[in-house]
Amino acid sequence: MRVSKLLLPTLREVPSDAEIMSHRLMLRAGYIRKMATGIYSYLPLGLRSVRKIEQIVREEMDRAGAQELLMPALLPAEAYQASGRWEVFGDNMFKLKDRNDRDFCLGPTHEELFTQTVINEVRSYKEYPMTLYQIQTKYRDEARPRFGLMRGREFVMKDAYSFDRDEAGLDESYKKMYDAYCRIFTRLGLDFTIVDADSGAMGGSGSQEFMVKSPVGEDGIAYCDACGYAANYEKAVCIPQKKEYPQGELELTKVETPDVHTIEELVGFFETEPYMFAKTILYKADDKYIAAMVRGDREINEVKLKNLVGCVDDLELAEPFMVRELTHAEVGFAGPIGLEIEVYADNEVAEMKNFIIGANETGYHFSNVNIGRDFTPNHIADIRVIETGDACPKCGQPIKTAQGIEVGHIFKLGTKYSDALGLTYTDESGEAKVVVMGCYGIGVTRCLAAAIEQSYDDNGMVLPVAVAPYQAIVIPVNTKEEAQVQMAEEIYKTLQENGIEVLLDDRSERVGVKFKDADLIGVPVRIVVGKKCGEGIVEFKKRTDAESQDMTAEDATNAVISYIKENL
Ligand code: ATP
Ligand code: MG
Repeated sequence: MRVSKLLLPTLREVPSDAEIMSHRLMLRAGYIRKMATGIYSYLPLGLRSVRKIEQIVREEMDRAGAQELLMPALLPAEAYQASGRWEVFGDNMFKLKDRNDRDFCLGPTHEELFTQTVINEVRSYKEYPMTLYQIQTKYRDEARPRFGLMRGREFVMKDAYSFDRDEAGLDESYKKMYDAYCRIFTRLGLDFTIVDADSGAMGGSGSQEFMVKSPVGEDGIAYCDACGYAANYEKAVCIPQKKEYPQGELELTKVETPDVHTIEELVGFFETEPYMFAKTILYKADDKYIAAMVRGDREINEVKLKNLVGCVDDLELAEPFMVRELTHAEVGFAGPIGLEIEVYADNEVAEMKNFIIGANETGYHFSNVNIGRDFTPNHIADIRVIETGDACPKCGQPIKTAQGIEVGHIFKLGTKYSDALGLTYTDESGEAKVVVMGCYGIGVTRCLAAAIEQSYDDNGMVLPVAVAPYQAIVIPVNTKEEAQVQMAEEIYKTLQENGIEVLLDDRSERVGVKFKDADLIGVPVRIVVGKKCGEGIVEFKKRTDAESQDMTAEDATNAVISYIKENL
């Protein structure tokens, strides 16, 4: 492709709502343009990268024996109503009506439709195991669309679904997808970590996520270098940490604590350590209110809590007026003593002695509190967020933590959808059985954002060869010099003949502009044809190198070809 003909609308400035580098660079390099919040068009370069990711995903799905099909994105409501997800998705689903007033939605994920397809089309149990997939645009009216392609409202996902006769079959199908995912993310050049993930309050016997560690990732992951344990925050098991508390049971004391609200203020007031406090936080869980307690220096993990409570809708902080009504005090003085709602205490709270809590009275706390004597939680469980330095639940060594971008998710669904929609089969002995399912997603467009986040520098993207829209670029320094143009054209042609996806920057721009653009859009390797072309010498430089090397035109051409082949 000649750069003079390429739609390459690079930008110097980007809007301030583009906060993270992948978003900024994709706008600057003319990969994408925003059409509405969380909705983007893909310009030629962006689309080429997306197509490449799709192709790698497709090849590995096919290699794993999965079959590609394509569902509509505009879907009738019935299947989602039958599974209950019409309500569960709630505002996250784009819902609409047709001219006859029938309900439709734009598909956020397709478990129901694939299950329905198998119910309709599979004739015999002998057709199982079967894995079907599609690469398709998904729609989710996300509460916080942001970060460009990272969290869009319209995005491309590969979703696959496996159908097996029994759990053992599911285990095998799941393993195949696990292996395929490892191959896909390796080929994409992503440095990924596989973590155990939460499989939700209902159903599902196992789930793992593929994460790319990055400070801009929205998921917390805990991992142990000593034994290889890795889990996301929702799933990571917290081992209670031992602390020294005053011995015996001291006398419960009500202490006046005027204008003291936060843990920091309390620590200052009582001149003690944060672990001497237990904080009590009130939540609305579906239509009831509950209280949750963790040690003062810990955070509540709302997913763990939600699963424990078994609530279906969102678990939300209780409204301030309800906190006042339930505690008879201003916000900031809640405590378990005398509270008439269920109390969920973290495992660590159960180990505390002679500690401090809110007194459910404005301006007062209790000190020397002891569980059993002063109050008894209704539930004691792991409901906190794991932290750096916590003991690894597998080997006891200190845990490390990082933020991660979830690029893929594999999930043993079990019979959740086959039960709900009636996907059964009759086996050899004439017995009716329920089909066992798995589902497997990859965020195709999010993978592009992750690849950029993983590697960029001051000049722009440093893309893996497999993901870059073009693999190489040839730049004549001065397009008025016939010899330079001639040699650049020849190298361009040879590279094309060798299957390299190459750009020729034939614009009559200053060479500095050409270098800037090539770096910005992340071309993995370049050849510059300049003054030494009379001696047959050109410059060869990888995007990751600091300096270029002089080589003969032939050597440089071969170096490009072998570099690209080695990195695909
Ligand atoms: P998240 O926790 O990030 O909201 P999810 O767990 O809801 O994602 P899944 O239903 O597991 O997402 O979807 C499969 C994959 O699709 C995810 O692993 C992710 O890579 C991608 N994905 C999900 N939501 C979005 C989005 N809003 N924009 C881009 N990619 C997304
Ligand atoms: Mg997920």
